[in-house]
Amino acid sequence: MNEWQRAGEFDRDHLWHPYTSMRDPIPTYPVVSAEGVRLRLADGRELIDGMSSWWAAIHGYNHPVLNEAACRQIASMSHVMFGGLTHKPAIELARLLIDLTPEPLQKVFLCDSGSVSVEVAIKMAIQYWYALGRPEKNRLLTIRSGYHGDTFGAMAVCDPITGMHEMFSGLLQKHYFAEAPRCRFDALWDESYIIDFKNLISTHHRELAAVILEPVVQGAGGMRFYAPRYLRRVRELCDTYDVLLILDEIATGFGRTGVLFACEHADIAPDIMCLGKALTGGYMSLAATLTTERISEGISGYGSGAFMHGPTFMGNPLACAVARASVALLCESPWKERVTAIETCLREALMPCEKYPNVADVRVLGAIGVVELKKPVHMASIQKRFVDKGVWLRPFGTRVYTMPPYCIEKDDLLRIAGAIVEAVEEEGL
Ligand code: PMP
Repeated sequence: MNEWQRAGEFDRDHLWHPYTSMRDPIPTYPVVSAEGVRLRLADGRELIDGMSSWWAAIHGYNHPVLNEAACRQIASMSHVMFGGLTHKPAIELARLLIDLTPEPLQKVFLCDSGSVSVEVAIKMAIQYWYALGRPEKNRLLTIRSGYHGDTFGAMAVCDPITGMHEMFSGLLQKHYFAEAPRCRFDALWDESYIIDFKNLISTHHRELAAVILEPVVQGAGGMRFYAPRYLRRVRELCDTYDVLLILDEIATGFGRTGVLFACEHADIAPDIMCLGKALTGGYMSLAATLTTERISEGISGYGSGAFMHGPTFMGNPLACAVARASVALLCESPWKERVTAIETCLREALMPCEKYPNVADVRVLGAIGVVELKKPVHMASIQKRFVDKGVWLRPFGTRVYTMPPYCIEKDDLLRIAGAIVEAVEEEGL
């Protein structure tokens, strides 16, 4: 037995991987290094990365600029507590985020992960209404097929069925769910698309703190794209009924859908925005919750004025330094052209899948390409099939999709798309 076989055995026996069983784990592939858009496996094989490590590594791996930012920061301080102390990496990152996000967003809370930033957003909304003497406004309204994270507050606003948390449903705070938007991204608008949402917000607004949703692209809850007009109507209805709007841009932020933040498709600003994933270019975990002067003033105007959240690693300097470098790198790069080129290529290369009888839908938006099948894939066998073809993809349920790093070259992208088309074509899917 060689070193990697022993390590693999240990991994299987002792290490939990995301959403897997300890008794019957889906095989894992040991990876030893990553560079650009390539992952190198322990057996020497190289895979073209079509996942950006769950949509985060937008610049590819082992990027000299991000490496340099991390090394420079680690040489001065990796971490100090944010209570009572502050530092340049956090200040400069916050400045950048405020400049890039919609104008009303002026206050930044730096936290550990996407799920935590959602918890923070929900707490901000609830604490705001509490501070204003409206404690009954503590429920949320969302749309089905959403995904916002794995912690309890976040789970409560994930789709109750596809959100992967069904078994906890009895323990979760009860919120309101409108039907998932039926209007595709480029659909002609029809007011009937929003009717269910409109009915719920008009009936329950007195108890609603906020609406929370993923703008334009619903990610892990189904890889669905919906019309920006829907989002604009949501903003209008939130204003009409005095309900805050939380946009979860954790998956869509930083250019993924062809605009820097997906809310730009609808030309709206949220009251609270969550950012994560690509914030550090996929180097490490960091997230941010941004909000407006109105919300922060509201929260600050009651009792001690303190917003009641403050994790140990809040504002971690190392993560902030890398995030600042990653966001600056993105802004200096021709990211828009790159994302448009990915979109054009994926559209051409994936659309042929439409003709297969096992395919329900093919859709592409920005640097996201999705082939939706009629039946769920068998994860272990499709994963092996892709690895054997030299690409790294991780489908879920009925969705085979790619969200590659923006720096991917056309030849590599065509290999990813080709592998998807072949896999769809082949027997057994
Ligand atoms: N919101 C959205 C839209 C996400 O896609 C995810 C992660 N897939 C999260 C929240 C949770 O982020 P994290 O996994 O960093 O906690």
